[in-house]
Amino acid sequence: MRVAILDGYTDEPAGLGVPPYLGTHPRYAYGAARAAGATEVRYVPVERVRSGDVDLNRFDVVVGICGVHTPGKYLGARPADLSEMLRILSEVDAVTVLGGPAAQSGHGRVGGELPETEVEGVDVIARGDVEAVVYDLVSEGSPEAVDPDRRRSIEELREYSVKGAPAAREHVDYPDAVIAELETYRGCPRFLSGGCSFCTEVPRYGEPEFRPPEDVVEEVKALYKVGVRRFRVGRQPCVFSYMAEGIGETERPRPNPEAVEKLFRGICTVAPDLVTLHVDNANPAVIAEHPVESREIAKVLVRYGTPGNVVAFGVETFDERVARKNNLNVESKEEVFRAIEVVASVGGYRGWNGMPYLLPGLNFVCGLIGENRERYRRDEEVLRELVERGLRVRRINVRNVVPFPGTEMGEHGTKWLERNRERVAAFKRFVREEVDPVLLRRVLPKGTVLRRLRVEPREPEFARQVGSYPVACRLLAEREPGEWVDGLVVGHGARSVEVIPLPVRREDGPDVLAKLPGVGKKEALDAFLKGRRPRVPYALRSWFAF
Ligand code: SF4
Repeated sequence: MRVAILDGYTDEPAGLGVPPYLGTHPRYAYGAARAAGATEVRYVPVERVRSGDVDLNRFDVVVGICGVHTPGKYLGARPADLSEMLRILSEVDAVTVLGGPAAQSGHGRVGGELPETEVEGVDVIARGDVEAVVYDLVSEGSPEAVDPDRRRSIEELREYSVKGAPAAREHVDYPDAVIAELETYRGCPRFLSGGCSFCTEVPRYGEPEFRPPEDVVEEVKALYKVGVRRFRVGRQPCVFSYMAEGIGETERPRPNPEAVEKLFRGICTVAPDLVTLHVDNANPAVIAEHPVESREIAKVLVRYGTPGNVVAFGVETFDERVARKNNLNVESKEEVFRAIEVVASVGGYRGWNGMPYLLPGLNFVCGLIGENRERYRRDEEVLRELVERGLRVRRINVRNVVPFPGTEMGEHGTKWLERNRERVAAFKRFVREEVDPVLLRRVLPKGTVLRRLRVEPREPEFARQVGSYPVACRLLAEREPGEWVDGLVVGHGARSVEVIPLPVRREDGPDVLAKLPGVGKKEALDAFLKGRRPRVPYALRSWFAF
């Protein structure tokens, strides 16, 4: 049986699969097909279908994976929406499966939209786990024999995750820039109270189910063997709560530094030349409640991780009344400030690639139940205080809520968002104009050299490092899409920095030369016309290619 895993890309609160990321869903589905004995398995990025490079009709089974639950701005690729994926699947002759978050709890930019139980042109909608469905389908040979609601077990996953590693070879950013998203657990310790009003993690997975460190390490070993050098431990709601003590008794379990160290040490042992090792989400309430253990975990992330790492705190709002109404995790601004200090005090120093090792990021959600003018006034007030206190935060993300069926927000829809449209826009403007630039200057002052920036293949006026929430760098001189350069920070935009790509070339022109520290306009023009390097200290000669 020939199987194609068609990756339309996924973005969930805990887990990213939009290039340069390679998500867990397509890898697991690929591994499940191999484990079930498929004769040929191919990973197919959706771009290759759009461009007509791949004929899906030559496969017996086509598994389409998509679903964007936390929409963002993607420089790397355009994720397929549900209608595009259904159109592609309905046009092929093969047995078709729809999987990923879109099949489990819908897909939407302004509202979750769950596909019907039966959709024309799709044989199975995998409401459970797509890898379990693929395994059953390939081994049984018939869609009728498949239970679309079946979930895979941790034991099954051990095999699928390892066998899914070769999918990386066909990723659009393989080998240099592909970054494999790794899962450590699903479910959230906040299942006790039902979780946050807008979140799909608790309705979908409930109580956390941890993967043993050995399983994750084996998966990394397999990925490393096929050439992957970048990893993000991002598929979990809180990395500080991995194998924490007290889950099921408290929503703020005691972090387990030994387990986290075992995991990260194991990863570094089997992937000694890895280039990126980052993480994603964390619950600031857990860090604030257990600062001693959390500090130990931050040290582990600094010791084994690579610089530029960000732990994204799900704050959502600082308004205590709205937080209570939406059953959010954070009770007060002081908790968030404490958590910021724990992480930044351990990870705030600069690493080899120019970025601080580990800093917190803050996530806000607009459109929460019960929000009003006071909510946005309060958020602005606390963010001003955060800036005045001199706290170091890598970035702030403000997004609109996406109501999904099965969540409390699903019953409210976008009602609160509609009511506060103008306030939401004003808040986003406030963050972009008054907070982001200050934080960015703090993290990346002028004169910082950022190493290993990749010129964006689809937007080559920008370059970024590959990792968790990389800073967008606007290039002041043209470079080839996909090229790797270093960048000297010479200016700041609202959410990006201006960089001169290094090494500087003569053809970059006198305007670029004049922006180098210590080089005035006259010297830049003279140097350019004579084809010589501008006069700079000896140590900076490596900045020039001429
Ligand atoms: S803390 Fe809230 S948003 Fe985060 S995973 Fe748990 S329920 Fe979801």
